[in-house]
Amino acid sequence: MEPVEVKYCLRCGCGLTRRRRFGAERPVCPQCDYTHFFDPKVAAAMWVEQNDRVLLVRRAATPARGRWTAPGGFVNAWEDPAEAAARECAEETGLTVSASDLLELVPGREHPGGAGFIIFYRGEITAGELQAGDDADAVDWFGPDELPEIAFHATGVMIARWQAGHFT
Ligand SMILES: [Zn+2]
Repeated sequence: MEPVEVKYCLRCGCGLTRRRRFGAERPVCPQCDYTHFFDPKVAAAMWVEQNDRVLLVRRAATPARGRWTAPGGFVNAWEDPAEAAARECAEETGLTVSASDLLELVPGREHPGGAGFIIFYRGEITAGELQAGDDADAVDWFGPDELPEIAFHATGVMIARWQAGHFT
């Protein structure tokens, strides 16, 4: 499923036609030969634990405003996903967190603007003070039996695995 129709060449502005390229019908520019690929959006998130509690942020923006998720966001083009997770975590929680292990890769786009998959890293805090920011309006620690309303299926998957002891 394509998220949007692409009509014009991103390089030269010529109208695109559809041709078979790399095993599928794709928008192709008849003038400069540009091929348009509908690539998945990639998100990266930090799974940070301290004293048997996990760090979650409350979303200040739609979708899922008011519900809680792991700190994270979209990976920019040419950005290391571990650095993207650290950047988003710093913006949303005020904490400097570095990615250690890659914990999980959770696939599945949950809404039209959402990521095709989310890479979760275990995060280790190196500095900072807890302070919500960017598209989070609260940040807090939660034990496995005192969780708030969760924003996304992917975060729910992570919490279920955590509760089952997969990350210890
Ligand atoms: Zn073109």
